[in-house]
Amino acid sequence: MVGVSSLPLVFDAPKRGLPPKHFADLDEQGRIEAAAELGLPKFRANQLAKHYYGRLTADVQEMTDLPAGAREDVARTLFPTLMTPVRHISCDDDSTRKTLWRLHDGTLLESVLMRYPERNTLCISSQAGCGMACPFCATGQGGLDRNLSTAEIVDQVRAAARALRDGEVGEPGRLSNIVFMGMGEPLANYRRVVDAVRKITSPAPDGFGISARSVTVSTVGLAPAIRRLADEGLSVTLAVSLHTPDDELRDTLVPVNNRWSVAEVLEAARYYADTTGRRVSIEYALIRDVNDQPWRADLLGRKLRSALGSLVHVNLIPLNPTPGSEWDASPKPVEAEFVRRVREHGVSCTVRDTRGQEIAAACGQLAAEEK
Ligand code: SAH
Repeated sequence: MVGVSSLPLVFDAPKRGLPPKHFADLDEQGRIEAAAELGLPKFRANQLAKHYYGRLTADVQEMTDLPAGAREDVARTLFPTLMTPVRHISCDDDSTRKTLWRLHDGTLLESVLMRYPERNTLCISSQAGCGMACPFCATGQGGLDRNLSTAEIVDQVRAAARALRDGEVGEPGRLSNIVFMGMGEPLANYRRVVDAVRKITSPAPDGFGISARSVTVSTVGLAPAIRRLADEGLSVTLAVSLHTPDDELRDTLVPVNNRWSVAEVLEAARYYADTTGRRVSIEYALIRDVNDQPWRADLLGRKLRSALGSLVHVNLIPLNPTPGSEWDASPKPVEAEFVRRVREHGVSCTVRDTRGQEIAAACGQLAAEEK
């Protein structure tokens, strides 16, 4: 992978902006109104929703039960092309596939599909780039291009669910899990992400019908937005990227910590757990000699136990080194000792498997290389 930071930030950059309105931006009422504007009765709006969310098609030519005369208008006004695949790359015996998409304004975007025996997980992006500037994350090094629209988030899901269904990624299967762990900080694009979550989790024809429990929203820890998310009445899993239990180091690893401290983030996480009854995931990228000391494991275990009781699970992620960085993953014995100590405090803790390493699709690597 080419070091993102070594590339020129702008060459012939097209004007960046949100795409034209798309069917997947609309709720039921909006769909009915949009159909009415085209002179179509209400049931046509429902028919379109069945095509998009149920049959996973955004190609109006495939919607043959729509009057031929209306198709062109519908295509132009409700289904503008949002994303064009630039390429797919697979690895891990084809059980991991990364797709690079080009958006209407030239912005690049990535999503990753991972197949497991018991589930199929799609890692999606909520922004093009990211403004959170975490120094160990490739996306964070490139800065924020722009927010994605609701439809640009939703359509990543539709495309992957369709590819799975049609057997384009191994045996035909069903998309079961969504993680907002691609590019971007989901809670910095709050309204659109919550809209997208509703469309991902609502039963057809209003959405794809993926269980909210199987959707994970991962955040650097924007405390007020975590509380707001708790009050939305969605039962999604919250993941908080903590990476260290102390403010001194977190101020540099996750710069937004200067705004909301570890204690404030954990209080918000507690509110989320209490409000939703859901266990919160804590993400912790283990970095050799940076945040992997035994005393930090103890401090982490203590703080989590006291802030969240048993409503917490720690996911350790072996650091996936970004090009040009001196940082590396911790040695396996150090990792094992870290796990042991966290568990000693009564906090459940596992090490996450890292998929997609050789195709730059693993954690924190989703910075489009050809930007
Ligand atoms: N902005 C959100 C979601 C995107 S990143 C967040 O920070 O939570 C998804 C996860 O990958 C986060 O926990 C992030 O800290 C982690 N990550 C980023 N870069 C990584 C790297 N190089 N190695 C391991 N994990 C990384």
